[in-house]
Amino acid sequence: MTVLSTDVLVIGGGATGTGVTWDAALRGFDVILVDRADLAEGTSGRFHGLLHSGGRYAVKDPHAAEECIAENVILRKVAADCIEDTGGFFVTTPFDDPAYADRFAQGCRDTGVPCEEVDPAQALREEPRLHPGISRVFRVPDGNVEVWKLVGAMARGAQQRGARVLPYHGAIAIHRDGDEVTGARLRDERTGEETDVEARVTVNAAGAWAGRIAEMAGIEGVRILPGRGIMIAMNHRLVNTVINRCTMPSDGDIIVPIRTVSVIGTTDEHTDDPDDHTVLQSEVDAMLDDGEKLVPGFRQARALRVWTGVRPLFEDAKASDTDTRDVTRSHALLDHAQRDGVGRFVTMTGGKLTTYRLMAKDTVDAVCRQLGEPRDCTTASVPLPGSESGEPYKLGDRLARKEERLREDQLICECEMIPRSRLEDAMRRRGTHNLDDIRRELRLGMGPCQGGFCIYRATGILHGLDGMTGEQANGALLSFLQERWKGTWPILYGDQLRQARLDDWIFQGVLDVEHLPS
Ligand SMILES: Cc1cc2nc3c(=O)[nH]c(=O)nc-3n(C[C@H](O)[C@H](O)[C@H](O)COP(=O)(O)OP(=O)(O)OC[C@H]3O[C@@H](n4cnc5c(N)ncnc54)[C@H](O)[C@@H]3O)c2cc1C
Repeated sequence: MTVLSTDVLVIGGGATGTGVTWDAALRGFDVILVDRADLAEGTSGRFHGLLHSGGRYAVKDPHAAEECIAENVILRKVAADCIEDTGGFFVTTPFDDPAYADRFAQGCRDTGVPCEEVDPAQALREEPRLHPGISRVFRVPDGNVEVWKLVGAMARGAQQRGARVLPYHGAIAIHRDGDEVTGARLRDERTGEETDVEARVTVNAAGAWAGRIAEMAGIEGVRILPGRGIMIAMNHRLVNTVINRCTMPSDGDIIVPIRTVSVIGTTDEHTDDPDDHTVLQSEVDAMLDDGEKLVPGFRQARALRVWTGVRPLFEDAKASDTDTRDVTRSHALLDHAQRDGVGRFVTMTGGKLTTYRLMAKDTVDAVCRQLGEPRDCTTASVPLPGSESGEPYKLGDRLARKEERLREDQLICECEMIPRSRLEDAMRRRGTHNLDDIRRELRLGMGPCQGGFCIYRATGILHGLDGMTGEQANGALLSFLQERWKGTWPILYGDQLRQARLDDWIFQGVLDVEHLPS
């Protein structure tokens, strides 16, 4: 069996774990990052896309609001290429308690969230699809985050500093030597091969699955209560500003414009299983009704896709009998040496994507304490690869890039404007047979046709590049189509139903994909 050694083993390649890897690599540690799936295939790749200003928490959770605005300012500098500065509105609709607006404005003042009251007529000029009955509007510095770009940039930056990144390597056992964790056993989820990693410190950044990793280490009471939420992407930008209802946080009260779509969300249903991705028809209906309250006619717009994510809500069964927990109301750092007498092991869970950098910093600070090697965190000042200019992403950027090489390059995915050269480059770099991995990196097949017009072309290109067998290429195509279908069928109505029928004719009626050799 292969045995690898490292300073820091990070289990979980979401925003938190990848952030820990980037932070630790910048501090000069040798790091191995592992995930049982692709990076950001957990909650991070299934979130709502909002870079919080903190406004949402200004009344309910002032501490979280302060953290969000502080991180919002930092991320706009160091992760500029992953963020679009859409700005945000909090609007009082006819369905909201008007008294909340003053509490909201006060909460923003108290927590330092920049907030300017705007004349509703002005807001309607900027966002003409908003409900005409809005009575108060506040402008805040919300934005959106392209998470795959963010996680990819952190992984790349860490790799450039020597980190090893192993997607599709699940931790199947945590090794202990007496009172210390010494590393983990990994299984390659694609080949079944096992690898041992010896680490000076092991970080559990497994989000909603963190309790299971702690259990593998023999540690009880790291209770994660997974909270499932659904989101629906509409096929174009109904709004260009993040729209929040000015009310206590509840379901379906935010629309985030991101890339070419707008996403409404979300819900919060308790589930026992972090891998539960159930979508109920009743939830879809309620979400579309909520959309109507913000943007009349929402139901007539074309829904593209629905998906779920699972919040890692942490409840510490040991909270009352220990003072070793370093908890904010938004995230939880567990130093298991102090909490459980198990050294060289740290868990970070809870929190928000907006605060991932802070969570990573707290975690690596704890790693430094465990190793007795204090080293300063620099993630607040070192830009991620691709963000060196400090210029935020703009919607027209992809078209501008495409136009530079208009004549030399073929367009493979029209919806997301992906030219052949970028596709081939990603396929070579990732060395993967999985078209979903490429989707996450380039947004391949994420537009209105959901892969209908591009995915057979992409499959052909992958086949040609990779020396795959025809059977493997067919398998990659089928698996991509099946994944897309999961997010399409619960919202099949109107134009998207027509699109799905067209895709069905292409893939079943013309290509007969179900009977290709595989
Ligand atoms: C519906 C919803 C909407 C949200 N919207 C927002 C928003 O708009 N803005 C915001 O700031 N925050 C938002 N959040 C919160 C945010 O998405 C999460 O807090 C954040 O993504 C958690 O990141 P993470 O890295 O801790 O967890 P994850 O991204 O879940 O990463 C954990 C990783 O651990 C891996 N893993 C599990 N078991 C193993 C194992 N045995 N071995 C190896 N790897 C393993 C998983 O595959 C996963 O990739 C939202 C959350 C939800 C649920």
